[in-house]
Amino acid sequence: MSDRSLDDWSIDGRCYACGSTGTGARCACGEPLWLDTRPVPADWPAPDEGSGCWRFARFLPTDPPEGMVAGVGGTPLLRAAALDDYAGCRLHVKDETANPTGSFKDRGTAVGVAAACEAGSEVVGTVSHGNMALSVAALAAGAGLTAVTFVPDDVPPARIANLARFEPEIVPVAGDYGRLYHDSLAVGEEVGVPMLNSDVPLRVAGQKTVVLEILAERTPDSIVLPVSSGGNASAVWKGLRECRRGGLINDDEVPTLHLVQSAACDPIATAYRNGAETVERIDPGETIAYSIANPDPPSGTRALTAARETDGTVSSVSDDAIREAVRQLSTAFGLAVEPSSATALAGLRALCEDGIVETDDEVVLIATGTAFTEGIDADIDVPESIPRERIGERVAALI
Ligand SMILES: *Cc1c(COP(=O)(O)O)cnc(C)c1O
Ligand SMILES: [Zn+2]
Repeated sequence: MSDRSLDDWSIDGRCYACGSTGTGARCACGEPLWLDTRPVPADWPAPDEGSGCWRFARFLPTDPPEGMVAGVGGTPLLRAAALDDYAGCRLHVKDETANPTGSFKDRGTAVGVAAACEAGSEVVGTVSHGNMALSVAALAAGAGLTAVTFVPDDVPPARIANLARFEPEIVPVAGDYGRLYHDSLAVGEEVGVPMLNSDVPLRVAGQKTVVLEILAERTPDSIVLPVSSGGNASAVWKGLRECRRGGLINDDEVPTLHLVQSAACDPIATAYRNGAETVERIDPGETIAYSIANPDPPSGTRALTAARETDGTVSSVSDDAIREAVRQLSTAFGLAVEPSSATALAGLRALCEDGIVETDDEVVLIATGTAFTEGIDADIDVPESIPRERIGERVAALI
């Protein structure tokens, strides 16, 4: 579409912090860039504007493509009354596990892959061995592109078994994995390969569509989500800003953003607690929420700003609390999420206990990723078998 300014993947971005514009992923001031896109007006949604996240194509930097990428987004927003007591408020769940590869990462990948196709690039890359790698590998394959995924050289084979299905170039890299974020962006710019890392402008642009979908249905008091790199929290904040600027929501309706981390790796929550201006790298411990264990988040300060500007919070929770939240989502709601995702529910429960979120507040919890793509190494007790004649008795006993 002619009113888009995307000539190639290194479209001009703007810095949320200092207002400068630039190309690539980072501003000269050190903070991440995002793309200026059209604000969402009060008379939206208009009918018949495409499906999934492409319903928002006129607020995105790319045109809707065909194939797998077209199937991203449009996830259900579900009332979860059975979890109200546990959470401590009126709970709704935005089920991002319904995306093609089971996480919200597909939204950002979809826009990244679409932009790569528009720019005539044949390769896209990312630094991940988890959900982001899976998403980039799958959607690149679906669009006929080659995906290159940089993984740590000590990654257990079981962790990349799902990834390998899509036959990306899996490149194990030795040394400091954290530094690869910056190294890969530099290499990508040099050789003209879009690197769809955690918080790059195209990824953030795609991932903001989750908020557009939520606000098209209802305007909650708060939105709660887990945070690691800060890319997705940035995207949610960007979506809220564009909806407010365009008039879809009023100034006094902007939902509060509550971001949650694992206590074993909580650099953003630490900065929030300390009243710090910026997020600093921490020494992480072990956590079951490995998808959100970034000790040096590239959009950490932007996520911190998002929470503060919306009168929200950044908190962290123990692995035990996360395990219990995983269980609650499975057994009381029927949704299998990975621990990283359940972190948000554990955090919300604590916020309600502290009275920061109130009992009659309407809250949307973003269920970020499914448990079904996790490597399984759990010990499950399989019940004893019974003779076929006794199945009636077993069912009757449940009534
Ligand atoms: C990537 C991921 C997150 C964290 O998102 P960031 O953008 O890195 O902050 C949370 N939950 C799941 C399931 C993820 O895959
Ligand atoms: Zn800047």
